[in-house]
Amino acid sequence: MQVLKFGGTSVNDAAAIGQVVSIVADQRTSDPRLVVVTSAMRGVTDLLIDAARAAAKGDRTRYRDARLILIGRHHDAAEALVHDLDELNRLQSVTDERVREFERLCMAVAILGELTDRGLAVISGLGERLLAPILAAALRDRGLPAAFVDAGELIVSDDNFASAAPLMDATRTATRGRLLPLLDQGDIPVVTGFVAATADGAPTVLGRGGSDYSAAILGAALDADEVQIWTDVDGVLTADPRIVSEARSLPELTYGEAAELAYFGAKVLHPKTMLPCIDRGIPISVRNTFNPTFPGTRVVAQATNGVAAQRGGGPAVKALTVIRGLTLVTVAGRGMMGVPGIAARTFTAVAGQDANVLMISQASSEQSICFVVPEGDATKVARELEATFASEIRQRAIDRIAVERNIVIVAAVGEGMKGTPGIAARLFSALGDKNVNVIAVAQGSSETNISLALAAADADAAVRYIHAAFNLGG
Ligand code: ADP
Ligand code: ASP
Ligand code: MG
Repeated sequence: MQVLKFGGTSVNDAAAIGQVVSIVADQRTSDPRLVVVTSAMRGVTDLLIDAARAAAKGDRTRYRDARLILIGRHHDAAEALVHDLDELNRLQSVTDERVREFERLCMAVAILGELTDRGLAVISGLGERLLAPILAAALRDRGLPAAFVDAGELIVSDDNFASAAPLMDATRTATRGRLLPLLDQGDIPVVTGFVAATADGAPTVLGRGGSDYSAAILGAALDADEVQIWTDVDGVLTADPRIVSEARSLPELTYGEAAELAYFGAKVLHPKTMLPCIDRGIPISVRNTFNPTFPGTRVVAQATNGVAAQRGGGPAVKALTVIRGLTLVTVAGRGMMGVPGIAARTFTAVAGQDANVLMISQASSEQSICFVVPEGDATKVARELEATFASEIRQRAIDRIAVERNIVIVAAVGEGMKGTPGIAARLFSALGDKNVNVIAVAQGSSETNISLALAAADADAAVRYIHAAFNLGG
């Protein structure tokens, strides 16, 4: 059994959806049991969210304009893909009803003047609910027995509405109960990505880019043989191709490497995608919808040649990523030396603010601790630290809580770095030679990642220099 997930670009219009239909038809010849998971058309989720946010501020024109765009794009695709007129009529009325629902929800948001996470979840999930019935109809048009299924019936989540976590036991029961009978009778379920529902049936979503995660959750629930992520590039590349034009597709990654890359900004996979697959050892492949014969990247438990073999010959650094929009916070002072508990107090204070710490670095002199948080969390974190260390600051044991904005993290990822000496030195010299200043550095204890904090203005150049220095383009 295979789970095939198609991203926004892959279902962007009738031409792209036609390509998807061919891929599914092709796979069906070798695998009779297929589950298809789809995103919304490219840009639709942003359109829905922007309109809802504008409505909360009293702007009613945005959702009225969005309504026309939604109807236009979905009707155009359906008309080009579905030739049976009765089927097409049914489909267009489903589209129209969903769009009316969108308009009613935005109207309610405008009246209330407030957009709750619960409201946001309902509205942002409409893109997948608009597209999946069209994809199912397009497959049927090509003679494939496809059936639309709303993931709200399959994925049971907690009530963290806009970024919900699946409850795997309940999800497994619901998914198997609903999909196995369809699969047994030869149908191809076409499931909405991104969306889920609480046990009470309230709609939730899995967080932005969450359709990859949906596919992995369903793959695990069904004990699938493989989860395929079909996107618009040749797999996971050595760097974001928008930054490095010579970025190359990686044939194989471990779950750990893929998770590390995704967590540190490689948009091609949602960071949680690997989690459901690791437990059951389900391989994930990342493929290009527009280059379907290319094998892409396989994400597996262990590299085929083994990490040891990679150490001998293969590249230690496999890929580079960037996370933008960060702030570096430094707690510094000579009085910190040898004083126990400063780090613990620092991070207790940070955790109390619900801020996500992306990187931590402490100089061996113990005179400073610095860490990186998302821009939006910086002010509250600094304020909390000033309160926590008020007496140390008064006594000059701690000089200050310094905040440096416009920071990025560039991460180098690869399991072959483990035990390979000199990687950090090569990273530094790649940047030092080009006069790029490294503000802080950290290495995870798993040694699959070295993170560098840099000024935002240096980010793209730094990635290109490191990519060249490690010859990642081949
Ligand atoms: P989809 O809509 O199919 O989910 P996304 O836009 O979410 O696609 O992810 C694919 C995009 O991720 C690529 O088009 C590419 O621009 C970007 N990307 C960033 N880093 C990488 C990387 N290391 N390898 C591949 N793609 C990357
Ligand atoms: N459509 C959703 C988003 O744009 C989910 C996804 O594409 O994976 O975030
Ligand atoms: Mg995506």
